[in-house]
Amino acid sequence: MRARNGFGLSSPQALAEFFPRLVAWQRAHGRSGLPWQHTQDPYRVWLSEIMLQQTQVASVLQYYPRFLERFPNVQTLAAATPDEVLALWSGLGYYSRARNLHRCAQAVVAEHGGQFPASAEALATLPGIGRSTAAAIAAFCFGERVSILDGNVKRVLTRLLAFEGDLASATQEKALWQQAQRLVPADASAPDMAAYTQGLMDLGASLCARSQPQCLLCPVQPLCLAQAQGRPDEFPVKTRRLVRRAESWWLLVLVRPDGRLWLAPRPERGIWAGLQTFPVFASREELQQHTAGWGLPPEPEREHEPVRHALTHRELTLHWLEWCVPEAPASGADSLPAGLSSELRAGKGRWMTMPEALACGLPAPIRAWLLQR
Ligand code: SF4
Repeated sequence: MRARNGFGLSSPQALAEFFPRLVAWQRAHGRSGLPWQHTQDPYRVWLSEIMLQQTQVASVLQYYPRFLERFPNVQTLAAATPDEVLALWSGLGYYSRARNLHRCAQAVVAEHGGQFPASAEALATLPGIGRSTAAAIAAFCFGERVSILDGNVKRVLTRLLAFEGDLASATQEKALWQQAQRLVPADASAPDMAAYTQGLMDLGASLCARSQPQCLLCPVQPLCLAQAQGRPDEFPVKTRRLVRRAESWWLLVLVRPDGRLWLAPRPERGIWAGLQTFPVFASREELQQHTAGWGLPPEPEREHEPVRHALTHRELTLHWLEWCVPEAPASGADSLPAGLSSELRAGKGRWMTMPEALACGLPAPIRAWLLQR
């Protein structure tokens, strides 16, 4: 499809112009003061790229320095326990990223002598590093001439090219990857690759916004087919829309007179995998059946205000039912009513003081609830 101004990216001239325009714009107007810029250390770049997935820069700015202070290099991260990593990640969400981050660090140390591989292809074989993240690390750190294609960049490029393919289809996504790679000149220098990659990210995060893109300020506006056709809002084309399912979770909150709370690890797979939470049940009845015979009163001592929490595919309503559990000194500080002691022995939960709980990897709504308690 041709642009109305007759100057689309189908022309070799336009293809050749895209890269230098974006590089010049990034150097003049793009972001330049972020703590993960101006380094070619793959560890730092990788960490920032993983943190930035589906997370605002403002949030990452809080977590990134803390994480680096505790884990200054891939070796210290690899040597940490999963709990330490999850605790520092707590609140950033999408916890599979933290687990993969840890696994990836261990793989870099065990299989690559503590050095990140220097090509996008090899980087993409590591846990949690997808094709676009691998390309970003390779471009920033090693100057490799590979294009990134994350969510924001898909929006920029589908508009630029008026790419009509439905990105719900793997074939169309592959076609867009090919187009993205065509925009990278074979003779691009390493510094230009870093500026270009950052430029794609910056353009997608600023002028080429999801709604009301600021095309008049855009450095590639003369090349942009969607803008020329007056329809940037129609891109990207993606038919499969996210559907969030509503679900209620019932949380068993047990508190000892000394303030200790009973927390249990989530299973290794699924929502909040590996994090510490109050035991979760699908219904009030299921919770009551599970605790029958524990000597708890049938009705909770406190029933707290439900909390809504949105996940990628779920809209959770969290219900908090609280019982106070008396201590049983004769059977030891940690063993309490019947069922609880067997859960303790099975590693399904343990008592924690508030500081101990807050030092663990906790899901964001659990942490917020504890902090306002
Ligand atoms: Fe996006 Fe507009 Fe620039 Fe096209 S001209 S890339 S739609 S901001």
